[in-house]
Amino acid sequence: MGKPTGFKEFDRKTPSYQPVAERVRHYHEFTVPLDQDELARQGARCMDCGVPFCHQGCPVNNIIPDWNDLVYRNRWKEALEVLHSTNNFPEFTGRICPAPCEASCTLNLTDTPVAIKTIEHAIVERGFAEGWIVPEVAMRRSGKKVAVVGAGPSGLAAAQQLARAGHDVVLFEKNAKVGGLLRYGIPDFKLDKAVIDRRVCQMQAEGVEIRTNTQVGRDVSPQDLLDGFDAVVLTGGSESPRDLPVPGRALGGVHFAMEFLTQQNRRNGGEPVGAPDILATGKKVVVIGGGDTGADCVGTSNRQGAASVTQIEIMPRPPEKENKAVTWPKWPNKLRTSSSHDEGCERRWSVSTVRFTGTDGRLTGLDCTEVDAKFQPVPGTEFHIEADLVLLAMGFVHPVHEGLIDGLALDKDQRGNVKADTVAYQTSNPKVFAAGDMRRGQSLVVWAIREGRQAARAVDAYLMGSSELPQV
Ligand SMILES: Cc1cc2nc3c(=O)[nH]c(=O)nc-3n(C[C@H](O)[C@H](O)[C@H](O)COP(=O)(O)OP(=O)(O)OC[C@H]3O[C@@H](n4cnc5c(N)ncnc54)[C@H](O)[C@@H]3O)c2cc1C
Ligand code: SF4
Repeated sequence: MGKPTGFKEFDRKTPSYQPVAERVRHYHEFTVPLDQDELARQGARCMDCGVPFCHQGCPVNNIIPDWNDLVYRNRWKEALEVLHSTNNFPEFTGRICPAPCEASCTLNLTDTPVAIKTIEHAIVERGFAEGWIVPEVAMRRSGKKVAVVGAGPSGLAAAQQLARAGHDVVLFEKNAKVGGLLRYGIPDFKLDKAVIDRRVCQMQAEGVEIRTNTQVGRDVSPQDLLDGFDAVVLTGGSESPRDLPVPGRALGGVHFAMEFLTQQNRRNGGEPVGAPDILATGKKVVVIGGGDTGADCVGTSNRQGAASVTQIEIMPRPPEKENKAVTWPKWPNKLRTSSSHDEGCERRWSVSTVRFTGTDGRLTGLDCTEVDAKFQPVPGTEFHIEADLVLLAMGFVHPVHEGLIDGLALDKDQRGNVKADTVAYQTSNPKVFAAGDMRRGQSLVVWAIREGRQAARAVDAYLMGSSELPQV
């Protein structure tokens, strides 16, 4: 364990942010990292619990107490090895994971969890800076060919694991660049895209062949994949957005969040945006939906120079603080205020949109009402919000079925996701596997990585009879 009295001696510390006035003027990451001495102190706070609840709270089962201790002892390279043993991409999770591990940490009982995510981020960045992260090329080739469809975090993890097991991997991606929602959903100020590119360089050196601008089901037929490969892994995400079919939905100025966020990511990345431009500049913006995607719309709208930003959510306002006796070590429902909210945003809860209003086909506002716990309108609470831009950030219902999934005639579960369990990851076609949001529905990057890793092991076992790839 780090330092037996560390948690008593040292306060929890996490990176600070650039001031709001400065950071809203650009799209770059804005955290100010802790120095190495402070990181060692943060590692020293870990109590190496007999039952490490952090480890169970982490979807990739990161071996957290071990790397906390190694950072405290200044053994960073070993810390990196432990970190990579369960997670291909700690640089993604170290930036954008909501950190269920910290919610589960024993020290969270007093609201001072070990700064696990901060330490994870620091270990992997040190690894890249020192040149410790190099291609891990398979010693033996299996002679088997695997197609992975969709280059989000799940497909990237699956492809890297399969290449390291010695298979010839081709990763198909419909967009011009890989990364999935890491690239085109999550804004640059949360995740710099160079972070994806440097990892992709490692994967290509390990033998992963990447074919971008290639949509399976349109540019390549699913049957060609079945004929040309020994196994196929589907990691195409959950891309059908939840709509709000109230009167006025067709007015100009009402858009899905992903249309808006993708455009800004493309603009930043020097890619063509595709007309027409959806911009918040000078506009009264209303974001419908209170999750991560909604917060990203708030941050992006403020950077574009919105006149005002309001975020509405149909769920009731969560409590400021959870009741630990009831929630710990589970993920608690409580009010979460992101750095984007701090940049300027009015937030309202228990609000339902009745209709969009407009003139000459253009949006001018929303008629809303407050709702009760059963989402029924509360009489007398009707109100109007002026708006020139509405962004629908209400999540995703299931993957796109046309082309890929229907082309392979795969069974779907009740929610319309590709049906496969979390042991074999095999679909109704035994040669086809599915992982990530395409299988589990919209979720988190860390779950996508877990599923990509586990699906890779399942494919390896299917091809070779057994697998030495890790279980998580
Ligand atoms: C705006 C936004 C913000 C988010 N913020 C966070 C966050 O802060 N933290 C967090 O943990 N999670 C966040 N999430 C969720 C997270 O991004 C997803 O859970 C995760 O990316 C899912 O990974 P995936 O690999 O399964 O799918 P995706 O990332 O969706 O990747 C799927 C890929 O498959 C490609 N594809 C699809 N069909 C085909 C086809 N037929 N042929 C070829 N390619 C195809 C797509 O183009 C895409 O690149 C956010 C989601 C959104 C939308
Ligand atoms: S629960 Fe917290 S204190 Fe305990 S081992 Fe995990 S990180 Fe360390």
